[in-house]
Amino acid sequence: MPITNVTSTKCSSTTASIKKNFTNGLTNNRHLFRTSDAIKPPSAIPPTSFFKNNNSVKVECQVRARIPTSTGEFFLHLYRNNRDNKEHLAVVYGDNIRSNSLDAPRPGESEMDRIVRGAYRGRLKPGQIKSEDINDDSNISSIEFPPPLVRIHSECFTGETVHSARCDCGEQLDEAMRLIQLEGHGVVIYLRQEGRGIGLADKLRAYNLQDLGHDTVTANLFLKHPPDLRNYDVATKILEDLNLSNIRLLTNNPDKIEQIEDAGIKVIERIPMVPIAWQKSHDPKRIGNEVDQYLKVKVERMRHLLNIPETLLHIYRAS
Ligand SMILES: [Zn+2]
Repeated sequence: MPITNVTSTKCSSTTASIKKNFTNGLTNNRHLFRTSDAIKPPSAIPPTSFFKNNNSVKVECQVRARIPTSTGEFFLHLYRNNRDNKEHLAVVYGDNIRSNSLDAPRPGESEMDRIVRGAYRGRLKPGQIKSEDINDDSNISSIEFPPPLVRIHSECFTGETVHSARCDCGEQLDEAMRLIQLEGHGVVIYLRQEGRGIGLADKLRAYNLQDLGHDTVTANLFLKHPPDLRNYDVATKILEDLNLSNIRLLTNNPDKIEQIEDAGIKVIERIPMVPIAWQKSHDPKRIGNEVDQYLKVKVERMRHLLNIPETLLHIYRAS
């Protein structure tokens, strides 16, 4: 899809310049670039038959379970893959979205094995011994559904668990789940790539650099990381596994759209994630809030597709 709403033509050239400088830095200072926190190369293949002799990215849903929330029921899908040893997740809403790798029969498994790993249909009842719900007469596979809402979300321990106000990740996750429920079906793919892929330790080092006056991009560069080390190969494969080839994507990040479209997923619509602080009723009294500066840098230096509130336009300058 064409990427629209770019708020400043300066943004892309600035980012290109950062990427160019970083690439040059890599060439000249290769020994300085630490890959310990980066996504591991395909050599880290788990010792299972599923991933045997396969060098391309492959995912398998290992287990699925019902997660009741205060507003509705999601099904949490836990994936393993041959790219890294992390447990990436899909938070699915809607019975029409099924995982091929979860539903596929496995050699020697019993009906109870299928139930315990979540390969059942409908809802489980006490004493149930069959993975197919014999009382479920709704033929959901015959119903036509519009392309689902999808959020590809990267883990943020600081923002989601300890409610850091340096970023808006927790808010974005909550809002994505709310919108998906409103829509009736969709998925949040939750990738374990903390700190835009640099890991929690260097993310905390970057926070200290930010407290010294550097912005989030410069802090990453100072630590010899690119501004954004995230990768969406596993997310793309999870979407394929869930039979989602046409999606409506909740994102402000053009790099994310480009990466997943390059991998063959069609983004038929981009739905912006406007932070609460930047919605119509932006309160100028909030000037000074750290999340404002963080978001502004993402627009100005990482091409994020958001309109900066007038009240903030001249307040912060990217370093
Ligand atoms: Zn965050």
